[in-house]
Amino acid sequence: MLAPSRTAADIPSLDRLLRSDALVQALRVYGRDEVTHVLRVHLARLRESALAGDLEAKQVDDEAVAAALAQELEARHRPRMRPVFNLTGTVLHTNLGRSPLPEAAVDAVVRAMRAPVNLEFDLETGRRGDRDDVVADLLCELTGAEAATVVNNNAAAVLLLLNTLAPKRECVVSRGELVEIGGAFRIPDVMRSAGAKLVEVGTTNRTHAADYADAINTRTALLMKVHASNYAISGFTHSVPLEELAAIARERGLPVAVDLGSGSLVDLQKWGLPNEPTVRATVAAGADLVTFSGDKLLGGPQAGIIVGRKDLIRRLKRNPLKRALRVDKLTLAALAAVLDLYRAPEFLDARLAALRLLSRPADAIAAQSARLQPALQRAVGAAFTVTAVSMASQIGSGALPVDLLPSHGLVVRPATAKGGGLVRIESVLRALPRPVLGRLVDKALWLDLRCLDEADEAAFASQLDKPLRGRG
Ligand SMILES: *Cc1c(COP(=O)(O)O)cnc(C)c1O
Repeated sequence: MLAPSRTAADIPSLDRLLRSDALVQALRVYGRDEVTHVLRVHLARLRESALAGDLEAKQVDDEAVAAALAQELEARHRPRMRPVFNLTGTVLHTNLGRSPLPEAAVDAVVRAMRAPVNLEFDLETGRRGDRDDVVADLLCELTGAEAATVVNNNAAAVLLLLNTLAPKRECVVSRGELVEIGGAFRIPDVMRSAGAKLVEVGTTNRTHAADYADAINTRTALLMKVHASNYAISGFTHSVPLEELAAIARERGLPVAVDLGSGSLVDLQKWGLPNEPTVRATVAAGADLVTFSGDKLLGGPQAGIIVGRKDLIRRLKRNPLKRALRVDKLTLAALAAVLDLYRAPEFLDARLAALRLLSRPADAIAAQSARLQPALQRAVGAAFTVTAVSMASQIGSGALPVDLLPSHGLVVRPATAKGGGLVRIESVLRALPRPVLGRLVDKALWLDLRCLDEADEAAFASQLDKPLRGRG
């Protein structure tokens, strides 16, 4: 027989509950305003159930209300940004925060958060210092440049550079380099925002030295090269090598700037990765200023780094925009720690988290997918098949878009031709305490294990110890 449903009169009052022993703990942790707010919402919901005739006795005693309240409070106060398993196959995934930071950087950030630091204070002279000095000498050492400055990201670096060197004047760029990076960063738009006038030269596939030379006039302030980043032109193509462009600029007394995008500090081919021009080589080839990201191939925090000629860097630093775009102490702490690792390149693939993932050999990843296949198969059940297969990862963040890294992982498919439920499996994996993010392609869910650090493997497997269907 069904228990008789309760009425609104059986619901305890807000005031009495707030004074009851059952809520002491919640009040101590979350405070009076927050508990009152959540409790009010909960009681209103109970009243609705009562009106609908389905309020049960077990919902209205103090302990039951307190338990429901605790659950809601916990959900409301869960960290907004949580660690996830990035099994998307894109290593430097912008939507997932790009580069993971190495432990040395994590420690440096924690230290900088806990206590006052010499951010803009020269400990030798006792005078006011410059925050760029935290990393400038390291950047010069690692790139061969004369000077360096740091802003919030590479988009900010390009904006600051153009606004300083070419306001109301012309900046010459090849049509083959007028790229959109994503997230609304388009070279022509940034030019406009910076107050510089874009002069396009050449064609999409071919630009010659004479195209640049012919575009130079008394209004020209700057020649610029932009790394194509997320696309590649092949076939009948020509672009002007930086050395040649620098020679033209020098002859006319103009500076050349290069937006390198990812900007690697070392030759990545050593670790089996595709070739990417280093910042040092770009400086050596005659760039007067080079901009690049801190959180792409560099493997550091979000930052925009500008290195180059001392007189030009000085001008950038005097622009009021620099103050608006400056980085905080946490970014500088992390960046300094990451740059320090580059002083011992032979240990870089072990110490730099991003490079460790990018350089993982496919056979190690294959062994990992063989280890994890049974656990995932058990978790998804017989309605799906899980196979361990080779696949290809992308570096991400517009770095080397054409080059894929041989990888391995698990593919989940419905066991029968008309089987469904894959979307459900994907969403249940996404709802796990540490969400697992893969890719739904061709009626299959692809989980690339390149970014599953072996240290996290046990944590990943332990989330699969119960069937996934019926969860969430
Ligand atoms: C990625 C990229 C940017 C933008 O850098 P953020 O650090 O994301 O702001 C600008 N230019 C190029 C060529 C890029 O590849």
